[in-house]
Amino acid sequence: MNANGIFEYMKKYNHENLFLCQDDRADFKAVIAIHSTVLGPAAGGIRLWKYDSEMDAIEDALRLSRGMTYKYAAAGLNFGGGKIVVMADPKREDREVLFRTLGKFINRLGGKLLTGQDVGTTLDDMEYLFMETPYVNTLPQYLGGIGPISPSTAFGVIQGMRAGAKEVFGSDDLKGKVVAVQGLGSVGSSIVEQLHEIGSNLVITDINQEVSNSVANKIGARRVAPDEIFDVDCDIFCPCALGGILNEHTIPRLKCKLVCGAANNQLKDERQGDLLAQNGILYAPDYIVNSGGAVYDADRLGRTVNIERATKKVARIYQTTEKVFNIAKKKGIPTYRAADILAEERIKAISGVKRFWENMEIR
Ligand code: NAD
Repeated sequence: MNANGIFEYMKKYNHENLFLCQDDRADFKAVIAIHSTVLGPAAGGIRLWKYDSEMDAIEDALRLSRGMTYKYAAAGLNFGGGKIVVMADPKREDREVLFRTLGKFINRLGGKLLTGQDVGTTLDDMEYLFMETPYVNTLPQYLGGIGPISPSTAFGVIQGMRAGAKEVFGSDDLKGKVVAVQGLGSVGSSIVEQLHEIGSNLVITDINQEVSNSVANKIGARRVAPDEIFDVDCDIFCPCALGGILNEHTIPRLKCKLVCGAANNQLKDERQGDLLAQNGILYAPDYIVNSGGAVYDADRLGRTVNIERATKKVARIYQTTEKVFNIAKKKGIPTYRAADILAEERIKAISGVKRFWENMEIR
């Protein structure tokens, strides 16, 4: 996408809005993308990242917001897709200024966008945001939220992985399966811990050596260099870092039978989904298996927090993933396309119905 192609891109993928936000005093630049409000207010997390260019940030926000529309639709939630990209170093220390400034901008949207944590942000950041706007989903329990969501995202990915294992290995038991995990942040490290408890054999990597060493020592996993993770002889490859890592250079190196991980936008483009299928690798679509945190978090809206109910909803990712595999088999199409069909059918079916959350207070 280039500067003259923004409207064209938005038209192609049906985006509703794009907002550019800046405040020089706070050294603040952010992009807010709203893909759709058909099912409900747009929702999506905040990514704090150093982008090479403004166009990269805009494209990322647009791509990620569209992914959120599909994620919520397929998960059976009444939200549209949105995303916030803050163009700053994730290690920036003046968090209060940064997130209270962002809170002011979010508040201006009057509830058309609800937000929460994503790459580079923490629950503490959400508290600063909440000082300026009520439109924050992810909050600690003492502020009425459900607390950290990454363990639920991890739990959801594992449910998708079990469904995938059943499909390719004939059993959903992950004990003894060799899983290569890329990225050991909030979600990746929780996946590794949960898989370790199940009895999977883990091969791990992170660009942050300290994190990698500490996880390896804690659970006795084999550690490899970041670029070696694609060559690992494994049953399952689990990408939990950033997007675009399934591409024409990495896919031919994969030795697994199943790809299932938390990262958003794993396929560099749609052709990579076809390439995985041609190479005999089953792809559990990212936004189907990584919706656990969103499902868990959304459970509290308009009700009281109920962890047991929320966790049961996350566990349904197993059945949703199976549904996607079944659509793919029935129609003879790759799984990434089957996931889109599942989401698009729900948006079409629900779009005429008045949603329960309208006029509902969300604080
Ligand atoms: P995070 O920032 O906590 O962790 C990302 C980790 O990946 C970091 O430790 C980083 O050092 C590592 N990393 C980055 N590039 C790498 C590379 N090339 N090789 C190896 N490691 C690399 O982020 P997170 O919250 O754990 O999210 C991980 C992914 O899952 C993201 O794509 C995010 O959008 C997606 N996701 C997260 C959630 C959630 O609940 N946090 C929900 C849905 C999707």
